[in-house]
Amino acid sequence: MSTHSIPADRHATRIARAQAALPAEDASALLLGVGADLQYLTGYGAHELERLTMLVVPAIGRATLIAPRLEMALAQACTASEARLIDLAPWEETDDPFALVAAQLDASDSRPEIQLGALGGTWGRLGGLLVSDRLWATFLLRLQATLPDAAFGLASTVMTTMRAVKDAEEIELLRRAALAADRVVAQIAAGPLVGRTEAEVSKEVLDRLVTEGHDEGDFAIVASGPNSASPHHGPGPRVIAAGEPIVLDIGGRLEGYWSDTTRTLWVTGDADIRPTDEFTKLFDTLHGAQEAQRAAVRPGLAAAELDAVGRKMIAKAGYGENFIHRTGHGTGLDGHEDPYIVSSNEAPLVAGNVFSIEPGIYIEGKFGARIEDLVACGVNGVDELNVSSRDLYVVRG
Ligand code: ZN
Ligand code: ZN
Ligand code: ZN
Repeated sequence: MSTHSIPADRHATRIARAQAALPAEDASALLLGVGADLQYLTGYGAHELERLTMLVVPAIGRATLIAPRLEMALAQACTASEARLIDLAPWEETDDPFALVAAQLDASDSRPEIQLGALGGTWGRLGGLLVSDRLWATFLLRLQATLPDAAFGLASTVMTTMRAVKDAEEIELLRRAALAADRVVAQIAAGPLVGRTEAEVSKEVLDRLVTEGHDEGDFAIVASGPNSASPHHGPGPRVIAAGEPIVLDIGGRLEGYWSDTTRTLWVTGDADIRPTDEFTKLFDTLHGAQEAQRAAVRPGLAAAELDAVGRKMIAKAGYGENFIHRTGHGTGLDGHEDPYIVSSNEAPLVAGNVFSIEPGIYIEGKFGARIEDLVACGVNGVDELNVSSRDLYVVRG
């Protein structure tokens, strides 16, 4: 029996809100494959398989979860199914699941109380069908072949705005995941580090993420020495040496919700090789910028403005060319989702947004640093989900 941190009535509200948003998009239904949208509406964190799993959410009437017979026990255990908010439709190994999707759409269209055309949209018989943005091409192509009259669009047109504003239970799950990641940072900083490969330390991080309460460890960037100048460095065979920095960027999922935090370490080794002046100047600049950005978070501030707060400080110190990515990204059931904290996003932050603040400064071939926190935008300002120190971790290693 699984525990559900998100109560059933939340799912009922989300399904109803998604349905209510469809007519304005000229859409008659949402077709959600495995992924964050499905989990958001039903609580079902399904496996990605070559067999189709799909939630059919008509604009009016009950949603139906179509899933392979062998996954039915898992599907049945999800919050929305246990609370009887959705119906289940299993398919056998020799069935055509795409025909089952079409039959569901037909059924919702033919029930006398559900005349989709009466909703006032401009669609034909089926009109728009909004599919999950990350639905595999193999599924979408077969849906299109089965439903040639429909106009296909992206589910994000209705799901993104909803998912970008987290409710209290979601923020608590994100906080639990963040605090678990914070504990792993402290454990890794305690060493040993010098003499081990990045890949070994990375594997240790992934194991510890699970030990500290994640369901899965998903990524563990361990970028040492010159590799710290590459923001998405893949941990490899490089052996960590004394007298160099390590950028540690780690995350996993807890009940579907992601952690994502970065701290920068400096390993002194037994010879006690302290950070160079050059590195200290770089790190102090970064630390000041990231702190100012966290402090600036409030509803109504444009995402672009929040990006600018840190970027200006970094540029003023002479590192403008070395901050080569956006400030951050939303996080929830997807590791990267709206809102994006980038200079092209003029949309204002709203209370309930959860996103990363992760400026970095990278000197190619030499070294780099990044500091990353997940924060929630509260009604009165920032609510910090990570609480570990953002200072440079000067450790023996
Ligand atoms: Zn990244
Ligand atoms: Zn990260
Ligand atoms: Zn991130």
